[in-house]
This record gives sequence, structure tokens and C-alpha cells, in this order.
Amino acid sequence: MSALMSTFVLFGGTGDLAKRKIIPALYSAFVNGRLTPNFRFIGAAREGLSDEEFQLRVANSLQTYASKVNGSAEQLSAFLALTGYAKIDAHNKTGTDDFEALKNRLPKDPEHTCLFYLAVGPDIFIPVVEQLAQHGLVEGNARVVVEKPLGRDAKSAKEINQALRTHLKENQIYRIDHYLGKEMVQNLLALRFANSFLEPLWNRKWIQDVQISISEQVGVETRGDFYDKTGALRDMVQNHLLQLVSIVAMEPPVNANPDAIRDEKVKVLRALRKFTPDEVAKKIVRGQYRAGAVDGQPVIGYQNEAGVPTSSRAETFVAIRAEIDNWRWAGVPFYLRTGKRMASRCAEITINFKPIPYSIFGKAQGPLRSNRLVITLQPEESVQLFMKAKEPGEGIRLSDVALNLDFAEASNSRRVESYERLLLDALHGDLTLFVRDDELGAAWEWIDPIMQAWDNDAEGLKSYIAGSWGPAAASYLLAQHGAAWGEEYVENI
Ligand code: NAP
Repeated sequence: MSALMSTFVLFGGTGDLAKRKIIPALYSAFVNGRLTPNFRFIGAAREGLSDEEFQLRVANSLQTYASKVNGSAEQLSAFLALTGYAKIDAHNKTGTDDFEALKNRLPKDPEHTCLFYLAVGPDIFIPVVEQLAQHGLVEGNARVVVEKPLGRDAKSAKEINQALRTHLKENQIYRIDHYLGKEMVQNLLALRFANSFLEPLWNRKWIQDVQISISEQVGVETRGDFYDKTGALRDMVQNHLLQLVSIVAMEPPVNANPDAIRDEKVKVLRALRKFTPDEVAKKIVRGQYRAGAVDGQPVIGYQNEAGVPTSSRAETFVAIRAEIDNWRWAGVPFYLRTGKRMASRCAEITINFKPIPYSIFGKAQGPLRSNRLVITLQPEESVQLFMKAKEPGEGIRLSDVALNLDFAEASNSRRVESYERLLLDALHGDLTLFVRDDELGAAWEWIDPIMQAWDNDAEGLKSYIAGSWGPAAASYLLAQHGAAWGEEYVENI
């Protein structure tokens, strides 16, 4: 199936995200025949560039960031020939009418689909959408993709949503969270709702705890100024981690339509128990990295990063013991963790099942870690169900055996990166993997009390050594309940 779109307009076309993710994703879709022949790509930003100068930048980005795409020289030339540039100031204050000039470059056919991707700061979303609306560009098949972060708290997110909704229908707004585009997130839906054996176990009766951990080895790179104003809670928990929680914990939707799925996801976000200030101190650990070593290489501490004030109190690590107040999950902790400059780069969802009620094999057979389902999103995607089995040989010695449930590995089908999948979904008008306004609002409602408690607690920020798994308090958060993070189990067995 090829996309119905004709034109992809990328606001922020010269920016970091465009270079590293969006343009390579678009090129991959092109090389793999997923775009229509009449497709056009227009980059937009304030810098004065000709079409040719922008094409050169696109070619450079592809050379650096699209090495896995394997396009031929002919395909690259063909892609560049479809690429143009529009000099646009979102505020339209340059004296010339930038948006009118853009409109004149777009096909007049009412069937034509135009996707406006806003890879710009959130302060620019509203001016861009207002200008698009004033110039009649959001009618018909127009769609708008907005990047995270959408707001800084519940109030600002609501304001942005209201402003977007003034000019756009909800089904024209594609709030992107690239974690939802990962193959394994969709596979989780398939595992849960297309099999009979898992769903009966998917509840408080059989599940001990759920852990969702996204660890990064990188620091703040060139984005210290942005990160310091944002912190890990806003940058990772409010969006990626909570989206993963909602997919893991949702009830079976009535069908696989976008709104049926999103109806169930939002119920989970609303059922997340809100923290009192006291509970924030007891159930949430926040940390900031100091100098250390990652993969044997020395790295500086957060407060010495470019763009970060030396007195910064921004958290680069968060671990949370969350709970969901509903019949399925009452009493099951959801341990959420994310951090920068950690020991390894990994994004993983672990469902720890309850231990067997009694072991007939006795203690001599080694520790019996209970069954677990591990869905790895990064660095490689995989799904493994860990079970106990007998080691071959005399007597009975039990060990952990992983059943690999990742069928894509065995098939020849192409792995589609998350940005490419989501761009194509937006082009096809499929909203399933995009975040609805009520989901976003519910996520912020849960985050707000945490931020407020932190604002009133100057002492709570712990430090951790770069290259570690975060502050010791994050281990204690689980240990006090007889649990441990995945890597701690591995080390202890
Ligand atoms: P960036 O490198 O600073 O790029 C910003 C882009 O916006 C540039 O192309 C800039 O070009 C353009 N721009 C700025 N002001 C403008 C205006 N008034 N009118 C028109 N264009 C304007 O930022 P980024 O890192 O790519 O991030 C873009 C957005 O994506 C942000 O909301 C960010 O939070 C989000 N995001 C980024 C990443 C990432 O890894 N970089 C990841 C997830 C989400 P000119 O200055 O020439 O106008």
C-alpha cells in the first residue's frame, strides 16, 4: 500500500530532529516504495536557503544518519529532486507573506493530502497552526503532526490543545510519541489480544510487578539548555513511560480502531494513583549524574555540561513505584525508571509473574526466579518468555530458558523504524499510534503533583555516578518490597 499523501511540509526542516530522524525516515519510506510518485517534500525554517542548498543538507543528513537505508545513487537523486525548501518565519513577520508563498507551492487539488510536521519548539506550534488556518491550508485532507513536549504541565498542555482545536479537528492532530511506533509495542498488543493463554494471567492474581525501564548512556549532548528546563520527568516519564504503562495495563478494546484503543489507554492513565507530597518522597527517587565513566570512557558530570548551570537541580534520573487503582491491577506495583548516563542503553518492559506456590524440587536446585515476559524495545527489539526447565544430564537442575517470541526475527520482513512507521501512519490517516488530547491531559494530571512536591523539596535530589544504574535509593525502592530491577537479578543469580 502506498501513502495517499502528496506533500510533506517539515517545519523545523533544518533542525536536529529533522536531520537525525525525520528526513532519514522519509527517505527510507521512499526507497522502500511506500510513497506515491507525486509525493513532494518541502523543508521549512527561517534560514534563507535555496532548494538546492536544502537538498545538499538533506543529502548530508542522509549520509550521516541513514546508512542503514541502502538507497542507490539513483534513488537518492530521485528523492532530492522531490525536495524543496520554503523560507518561513512561523510568526510571519518577515514583511513578505511566507505562508502565502508556501500555499502557492502546494497543489490545488482538493483530494491532495498535505501533512504539516511541526518539528519546532512548542512555543511555535500555535503561530504555525494559526497561519496555516488563516491561509486556508488546514482544510480538506490536511493533517498536523506535533512533537513532544506538548506543554510543561497540565495547564499549558490544555492551552496548547485548546489552541490546536480552535483550528483543527481532533482527527487532524497527530501527537507523536515515537515509542508507540516501535514494532514491539504493537507486538505487545498482538501478544495480549490475539492469544488465549496470556490474557487470563494478565492481572493482579498472577503478576507480581511490572517494570518499565528506559536507560540511556548518552548525556544531554548538545541540548543542555533544553534539557535543564525540562528534566527526565517531563522528557521521558510524562510521555514515553506513561504511554507504555497504558498499553501494558489497558483492558481489551472492543476492536482495533484508533479510538477504541485510545479509550482504553486513557482509562489506565486516569486510574494511576496520584501522589501526595509525602508519597512523592517515599515512592519516587530523582537523581542527577556526576562525573564517572560510561563504557570505560570518562565523562563529565551533568552540572558541567554545556548549557547547564552549575547549580542546576534538574533530574536526569527518575524511578517511581506507581500503582493503578482498578480491579485488574490493585496492589501490583508498576516500577518505572529512566535515566541518562546509565550503565547501558536499554528500553525494556518486564512482566514478573508470581512465584510458584511451593517448590517440589527443594532449595538445592538454586534460586527459583519466577516466570517473566521481557519485551525489549532497545537496543534490539525482542520478546522473550522466561521459563524454568531442567538442564540436560543426571538429576534435576533447573535453569532459566527463554522462549523467543519475536517472529519478525525469523521472517524476511523488513524492520521498520518507529519514525518511518508513524510518518506513514500519519500519511494514511491512521491515528492508532498517536496520542489523543484526553490521554495527554490525564498524563499531565498525574505528573503535576510530583512536580509541585519537588518544587517544595530542595533536598530530594540524589546524585549518582555516570555509568551506574542510578542512585542506590532506586534499588532500595524495590528492595524494601522484596523486588529488584532486572539487572540486579542477573547479577545475583
Ligand atoms: P532545533 O535543532 O533547535 O531546530 C529547531 C528548528 O525550528 C530549526 O529548523 C529552526 O530553524 C526552526 N525554527 C525555529 N524558530 C522558528 C520560527 N520562528 N519559524 C520557523 N522555524 C523556526 O530543535 P530540535 O532538536 O530539532 O527539536 C525540534 C522539536 O522537536 C522540539 O519541540 C523538541 O523538543 C522536539 N524533539 C526533539 C528531539 C531531538 O532529539 N532533537 C527529540 C524529540 C522531540 P531556523 O532557526 O532557521 O528558523
